[in-house]
Amino acid sequence: SPSEKKVYRIAAIPGDGIGVDITEAAVKVLDKVAETNGTFSFTYTTFDWSSKAYLQRGYYMPDDWATQLRAHDAIYFGAVGWPDVPDHISLWQMILPIRQQMNQYVNVRPTRILRGTRAPVSQLQEKPGDLDWIIVRENSEGEYAGQGGTTHGHAENAVATELAIFTRVGIERIMRFAFETAKGRPRRKLTMVTKSNAQRHGMVLWDRVFYEVAKEYEGVVEHDKMLVDAMTVRMVNKPESMDTIVATNLHADILSDLAAALAGSIGIAPSSNLDPTRKNPSMFEPIHGSAPDIAGQGIANPVGAFWSAAEMVRWLGKGELDTVADQLMQAIENVTGEPKTRTRDMGGSAGTEEVTAAVCAEIGKVC
Ligand code: ATP
Ligand code: MG
Repeated sequence: SPSEKKVYRIAAIPGDGIGVDITEAAVKVLDKVAETNGTFSFTYTTFDWSSKAYLQRGYYMPDDWATQLRAHDAIYFGAVGWPDVPDHISLWQMILPIRQQMNQYVNVRPTRILRGTRAPVSQLQEKPGDLDWIIVRENSEGEYAGQGGTTHGHAENAVATELAIFTRVGIERIMRFAFETAKGRPRRKLTMVTKSNAQRHGMVLWDRVFYEVAKEYEGVVEHDKMLVDAMTVRMVNKPESMDTIVATNLHADILSDLAAALAGSIGIAPSSNLDPTRKNPSMFEPIHGSAPDIAGQGIANPVGAFWSAAEMVRWLGKGELDTVADQLMQAIENVTGEPKTRTRDMGGSAGTEEVTAAVCAEIGKVC
């Protein structure tokens, strides 16, 4: 009966530009998935926390934002940022406070080449299956800890420091998450990225804790270590040699953009900000920004938003909705596989709404 349905409460933050279009599209797809499956449903609270709102009222989020978010099971985020507001304001007033207060210390970025994508590297054009990674990014400390200072401002003798903070607790929990992720994948392989030849303190601790945790996974997860510079080369030349990748806040930020580019389009890639303790809602978002250049034209690619929605379903289901998430991915790929239901960035001419309708129709068939 409908009363036995599990209801997931979603905090929706569409944000700016195409964030608004793709969030609307994702909600349609999520509702279609729930309706087709029949065992669960979603309710949404939409928050107008955007750069547009910031320009009008002077803040992104109200004082009680954290309490409001905690009344939900997950956060679905579109994109935030607008040319009139410098990027660091939305970052420091909204994105980072959410990640920190919601204890989202893991950022996960799955990357593979969806059907219909044009990969820029010839090996991947021929064998798209060679690229199938999960990048696990430390999301709470490291190079983006925000510690440091400036003296003499803009003077000729200006001095600035930027401290990277690494804690054993912070490293250990991200390594554990990465090993657990690798353990659940068919290839059971974890590559750890570091720069411990040049940075001799934080990165050395990072290495040491990695090898400690690795002992617990002896014979279960294969592991290796890469210096970040060599890693960029390996990602391009030997994509098939890797599976799960763990790196610091800064390194993983850069490597995941490279990964998204190798996979063909920025409009496709998803990202999850997770609180593995599940005491706070986790946040799901496509990696692309608000794309002011195409905003309001109805042409944004919603695939990254749909993939993020699939990851949200996976997370909410705690293992019980994996099949549903896989079916949604199948529906998405059936649509990207057809030239006539691809958006412009994928070489087609379909609009956001057409792609959304096509995915909803596929869900009815595959779920
Ligand atoms: P941010 O600084 O928020 O990470 P950005 O300004 O660096 O974002 P995006 O807003 O992601 O970058 O846009 C980069 C380019 O990619 C733009 O030309 C944009 O039109 C294009 N783009 C981004 N997302 C999409 C999408 N979903 N569909 C089609 N094109 C997209
Ligand atoms: Mg931008």
